[in-house]
Amino acid sequence: MKKIMIDLDETICSPTYLEEVNKYMKTNYRYEDIDTYFVEDIIPVKEREKFLDLFYQKANVYQNAKIMPHAIEVIEELTHFYEVYIVSAFVDKRRVAESSIMAKYKYEWIIKNLPFIPPKQIILTGSKDVILCDIKIDDKVSNLKGYGEIKLLLDHLHNRKYSFEELESLGIKRVHDWLQIKEILLGGNLE
Ligand SMILES: [Mg+2]
Repeated sequence: MKKIMIDLDETICSPTYLEEVNKYMKTNYRYEDIDTYFVEDIIPVKEREKFLDLFYQKANVYQNAKIMPHAIEVIEELTHFYEVYIVSAFVDKRRVAESSIMAKYKYEWIIKNLPFIPPKQIILTGSKDVILCDIKIDDKVSNLKGYGEIKLLLDHLHNRKYSFEELESLGIKRVHDWLQIKEILLGGNLE
């Protein structure tokens, strides 16, 4: 069986980082307003440390994470034809010690919402690039570079700066939703 690694944040689910930022800043930003990868980058630099202190003490951005349309059902179908690994980075370089709580929240979310994924196929890591898989699905271009025969980039505002040509030269295909991923990985070429 071919191995697929699937990213968690903004690929399977959307954790509520922006809601935490809005709560802290008393703002009302929507995801359409943000084109940076880390939403907290919209907080002024001198405020950011205070935000991170509160964030790591109080927030669980997975508690009300929104699931991407059709993600769960398509991933379940993929498990019948592929060895599926959920691979998520949890280390925040700014807060190395406090990051451990994110591994717990991510793990809890995955076993609750993707119960058909064997726990040994959940990889919480600091380095996605050392993991060799045949197929990669992610919303971050740097996570798709390197090894892999099929690399799918889930379209988001923050990755639109990459042109078709640029992605093509890296062997990456932009996809718009999970039904398109299903079509590519399960449509036609399987018996
Ligand atoms: Mg991601």
